[in-house]
Amino acid sequence: MRLKRLLNFAGDRLHTLPLLVMYLTDGCNSRCVTCDIWRNPRRNMRLELVEELAAAFEELQIRWVLLSGGEAMQHPHWPQIAQRLRAAGAHVMLLTNGLLLRKQIDAVRDSVHEVIVSLDGGTAATYQAIRGVDAFDLVLEGVRAVRAAGLPVTTRTTVQRANFREIPQIIDAGLAADVSALSFLAVDVSSEFAFGQRPGAGEQAANQTQRLDIPIVNNGASQMLTPGEVDELARLIDEVEQRYAGAFAAGRIAESPEKLRRILVSYFRALTGQGALVAPRCNAPHFSTVIEVDGTLRPCYFLPAYGKFRSGDTLAGALNVPAAVALRQAYRTGQRPECARCVCPLYKSPRALLEM
Ligand code: SF4
Ligand code: SF4
Repeated sequence: MRLKRLLNFAGDRLHTLPLLVMYLTDGCNSRCVTCDIWRNPRRNMRLELVEELAAAFEELQIRWVLLSGGEAMQHPHWPQIAQRLRAAGAHVMLLTNGLLLRKQIDAVRDSVHEVIVSLDGGTAATYQAIRGVDAFDLVLEGVRAVRAAGLPVTTRTTVQRANFREIPQIIDAGLAADVSALSFLAVDVSSEFAFGQRPGAGEQAANQTQRLDIPIVNNGASQMLTPGEVDELARLIDEVEQRYAGAFAAGRIAESPEKLRRILVSYFRALTGQGALVAPRCNAPHFSTVIEVDGTLRPCYFLPAYGKFRSGDTLAGALNVPAAVALRQAYRTGQRPECARCVCPLYKSPRALLEM
């Protein structure tokens, strides 16, 4: 039966959907400078939509669910939703800003299998400068509470100009809070919708990136590193490799030093015009999809919507409308410019897909 998953790789139609990313709400209690979701009116995913999705789990072999948003824990019924999806057979992961973890630890323990927490600074001041709220200690207390409850926690740091020098402090803070793993990715400076409809998108593109042909969204330029800072980051990763050799070897730092150099140093270097952006290995749209609050479907965080899952539709049908198949074919054949500047690719080999 699992072999059915491999049919996804035989073309551009989805026969199964091992991973479903759900935006439960577009409300958020953070105020991140890199995101405009929190500025928009809040909408919550309807429980009827959740129920219709859950009904499709068996047919589509949905095994992993990532609850996201906005801030997933801002949905008033998020524990009920998580428990419903668990009952449907999914491994439920909660992607959160961490502000409510400590307060809602009982619901977290009873509803999800693992937690991924954003940790964008190694000090309270930097955290607040990036996330817009004074919550560095609160987030770490939440992480410790989840670990004490026996669940795995991965921290995820969006590396940018304001925090790259704090990578060692972030690792220290995470290890001290007993995280299962720390993960790093570069800040996204170009997506016009992955972090809300960022105002000014396109307007600044001509000014900032004439040489690069990358649209930089409003605010994005201030998060990019200068050429000198990229050199500093490269030296810092050399130091981190030495200093945290044990944590790398034990898998407590999710990315290898080589990968950090590729996804951070090479990426920021390319953004400064000193190298080419290279499309990463990714086949996420062939085993997953993103569903937004209102049922809008996307192949991944960064590619455009291809349709909507509406009441009365089958999910299998909605996943395979002509626009969806065309988008999958386009990214697979290297025709989507978003891929070269993507900060969050995901690749699964056929074997990994079978093991999911
Ligand atoms: S990046 Fe995430 S945590 Fe920050 S405001 Fe946007 S949705 Fe909220
Ligand atoms: S590389 Fe990024 S933009 Fe391209 S398909 Fe993968 S996740 Fe989407």
